[in-house]
Amino acid sequence: MSVNLQTPIDYLKGVGSNRANLLRSELGIHTYQDLINLFPNRYIDRTHYYKINQLQRNNADIQVIGKIIEFKEVAQKRGKRLLATFVDETGVMELVWFRGQKWIRENLKLNKTYVAFGKPNWFNGKFNIAHPEMELQEDHEKNLRSAMQPVYPSTEKLLSKGISNRMISKIMQQLFIETKGKFIETLPDNLRLELKLVNKSEALFNIHFPKNQELLSKAQFRLKFEELFYIQLQLIIKNLIHKSKIKGFPFEKVDTYFNSFFKDYLPFELTGAQKRVLREIRSDLGSNAQMNRLLQGDVGSGKTIVAFMSMLIALDNGFQACMMAPTEILSVQHYNGLLELCNKLKIKIQLLTGSTKTLKRREIHKSLENGDLQVIVGTHALLEDKVKFKNLGLAIIDEQHRFGVAQRSKLWHKNISPPHVLVMTATPIPRTLAMSVYGDLDISIIDELPPGRQSIKTVHRYDKNRLNVFRFIRDEIAKGRQIYIVYPLIQESENMDYKDLMDGYESISREFPMPDYQISIVHGKMKAADKDFEMQRFIKGETQIMVATTVIEVGVNVPNASVMIIESAERFGLSQLHQLRGRVGRGAEQSYCILMTGHKLSNDSKTRLETMVKTSDGFEIAEVDLRLRGPGDIMGTQQSGILNLKIADIIKDNDILQLARYHAKTILKKDKKLSLPENLIILNTYKQLSKYKNIWNYIS
Ligand code: ADP
Ligand code: MG
Repeated sequence: MSVNLQTPIDYLKGVGSNRANLLRSELGIHTYQDLINLFPNRYIDRTHYYKINQLQRNNADIQVIGKIIEFKEVAQKRGKRLLATFVDETGVMELVWFRGQKWIRENLKLNKTYVAFGKPNWFNGKFNIAHPEMELQEDHEKNLRSAMQPVYPSTEKLLSKGISNRMISKIMQQLFIETKGKFIETLPDNLRLELKLVNKSEALFNIHFPKNQELLSKAQFRLKFEELFYIQLQLIIKNLIHKSKIKGFPFEKVDTYFNSFFKDYLPFELTGAQKRVLREIRSDLGSNAQMNRLLQGDVGSGKTIVAFMSMLIALDNGFQACMMAPTEILSVQHYNGLLELCNKLKIKIQLLTGSTKTLKRREIHKSLENGDLQVIVGTHALLEDKVKFKNLGLAIIDEQHRFGVAQRSKLWHKNISPPHVLVMTATPIPRTLAMSVYGDLDISIIDELPPGRQSIKTVHRYDKNRLNVFRFIRDEIAKGRQIYIVYPLIQESENMDYKDLMDGYESISREFPMPDYQISIVHGKMKAADKDFEMQRFIKGETQIMVATTVIEVGVNVPNASVMIIESAERFGLSQLHQLRGRVGRGAEQSYCILMTGHKLSNDSKTRLETMVKTSDGFEIAEVDLRLRGPGDIMGTQQSGILNLKIADIIKDNDILQLARYHAKTILKKDKKLSLPENLIILNTYKQLSKYKNIWNYIS
């Protein structure tokens, strides 16, 4: 039969149905195409051999030449393992098999010289290699060896079933024989010429069988570029389609609400960044497309007022607006803040949360549906089916990382036509990542703090300095300030964490006794009403110290609180630390953040703490966080498929990403439908990629 790249892998000579099944289940390789796109993780020098006495504990895969002098079977919990004593002139090591022992006993010979290949482990005072690849030295020398032998992704199961790296290399060779190494070009000539990209066939050959580093680098560059280029193309096209298909409500005018607020009631001069972002939002709202905008701004940068003024535009056009926040405390706080502003403008506003009483709830449902109620603030309660709007024009979501995508789309479907959506977040997504994840999702950034804000002094203190820290707290309270003390709460160790929190609370209570000192405590196991009560006491200044778990992380605003003490700070992630720190520094006073830790710190913890001490720039912090944790935890990355890259690395290959994005954008700008002859290759490739979803699983 003639071969094409969609041919199932079973047909490749030397594969057969057993191996094909394993390749499918373990590596997701279904077709020739999938196999070709199985790119090596790295390359090793197969012309280099180690002596046993040169082995190091951190060696990756290596080769050792030696002889098996003895086999031994050792019983273990389940079944047994087979050990071979392997020696060279410098020492002794072990080879270990947990499975396939019969085959090994029958096929490996004692006292013959072998090349053993694998990753050495240090165990019971000597090195061993588990499931090594074994080859007689004479065979090894006959086979062509290269200083750049690819190491393919693998799994333990594959190895134990004999699908070794060598085997994969072999079937890869077979694939190149059957296809004659000719592959359809997927990037147009002009682009390849401009960027000096090698052609597809050359790139694929050199990625799998590189002769030297230079050829390999060129191949890698070309394939990484291609991968990122088509993702960007896809994201940008998706966004264009979204914009042209989904009609929003054009808010044609800016009228009395907005104007009179701006003239008479705006409590302060807007910062330049706030004005710029408002203009961006205004222009979205006025167009025919539905706004879907992410508003990023560090804690305290003043997102709320921007959100409120956007709501006024909706109201000026006869629409309703809502604001959703992830917690009860936050919704109440937003509600109180907005209530004051709404009263001045005679705007009807209500609060809807899980603890809204039934009667009140019914009244709210009714007035939302008949349009009497103009603004609603609330929690998830807004998403309930019973909540229906007469004409919801703008939905604002605060701190979006707490809400899933599904929830957001629920808000969308509360109308015949989706409302404009503004998502606010204080956890900045590094710019670079944001665009690779969202393509052209519109992003506004408030990158300027309101004037007069003092920067927060941040220090790292060890537990043994606690007495000094207590003295500092006492001094600050004497000046009339309030203090947060926050304890970590990690789900996995919840009970221990609560114990830490309660122990901490007790020792604080001893150190700061009543009646001179009043202490609030808030944590997740408390009833909402109790939490609220304690919170309110702190907000009103009746208590000087707030002991809490991270429930206070999001949004809480107490300008008089000037000290944030974070206990076991090494256990918090960077973005969380940054969020917590943002709870202070909201008033005119100098504020402080004290990161308390034990003495033993991992390298990552040290980096996190140093970063916090060094900078308060949320974007800089986000970049460090991205480097430390990888993109997996950052919102949106799961859906975007950016984590399933086959060859590019979203962090290390950022330059290539920018380049790819630039070219994808430029091409689409000139030729939105990819209908020019010069873009035919792109169009075909793009269609192909969308068709065979399993091949490039990042096409969602
Ligand atoms: P965040 O972006 O964290 O949600 P907020 O909207 O809560 O920040 O604003 C933080 C504080 O700064 C609030 O007390 C708010 O009234 C105040 N604020 C916002 N914008 C300005 C401004 N332009 N000038 C002075 N104060 C401002
Ligand atoms: Mg806020």
